[in-house]
Amino acid sequence: MDRKIEERRPWRAVPGLLAGALSCACGAGEDVDPFVNQRFFMVRAQIEARGIGDEEVLRAMRTVPRHLFVDELYQSEAYSDRPLPIGEGQTISQPFIVALMSSLAGIEPGDRVLEIGTGSGYQAAVLAELGADVWSIELLPTIGAAAARNLEAAGYGDVNLRVGDGYLGWPEAAPFDRVMVTAAPETIPQPLLDQLGENGRLVAPVGSSGTSQRLRVAMRHPDGSIALEDHGAVSFVPMVHGETP
Ligand code: SAH
Repeated sequence: MDRKIEERRPWRAVPGLLAGALSCACGAGEDVDPFVNQRFFMVRAQIEARGIGDEEVLRAMRTVPRHLFVDELYQSEAYSDRPLPIGEGQTISQPFIVALMSSLAGIEPGDRVLEIGTGSGYQAAVLAELGADVWSIELLPTIGAAAARNLEAAGYGDVNLRVGDGYLGWPEAAPFDRVMVTAAPETIPQPLLDQLGENGRLVAPVGSSGTSQRLRVAMRHPDGSIALEDHGAVSFVPMVHGETP
């Protein structure tokens, strides 16, 4: 008996081996995610508690490692109830907003989804986790490069990324089943509506920043007409006009 214990804990005698012994404790060759409890708590306290019951969205939010989409400096706050800085004056959205927009978008596996404003890449990862094929456009090259690294590291390297002006959409990949805009334009850009397929749906914060943005859902009916819904006040960074090529 004594001998067995001795064998199971060889690192006791050699403290320098402790880190090595712990990192292979999971057996399957994968590192244990130290944030998993925080992530489950985030979903319960911030998302379900505010009335989001879309099981697939809740599952995706419990799965995507949000801490891999922020700078190391902010990792301990990655699951807190607020946006966080990602550089260049931009932010990763509050988890609840990501869940709300994902739920309003009504993503089905296999949907073609265009996101405007890649930012950290987190929302794109949530869309991919929901089974969507994702195309995402970011205006700022340094932010776009960081998003590519984050997505790769988190296991969502299949997301299609482009650095460019989201006001133009991604015409070569259109039509899209869903369009999600994560920076606020003053009005919904016409090219994004044009790139929606039949029964397509667009979710966007619309209005001038800071004061009067509303979360809007636009639905394209088969006859081409667009129906609009209002889902309340939100606060996003503005969607900036890129330089005309
Ligand atoms: N979805 C992001 C958060 C977006 S923050 C996430 O999950 O982290 C808004 C982003 O939109 C910023 O990175 C900003 O640079 C970008 N943006 C602003 N105007 C844009 C435009 N015209 N085209 C594409 N991206 C734009």
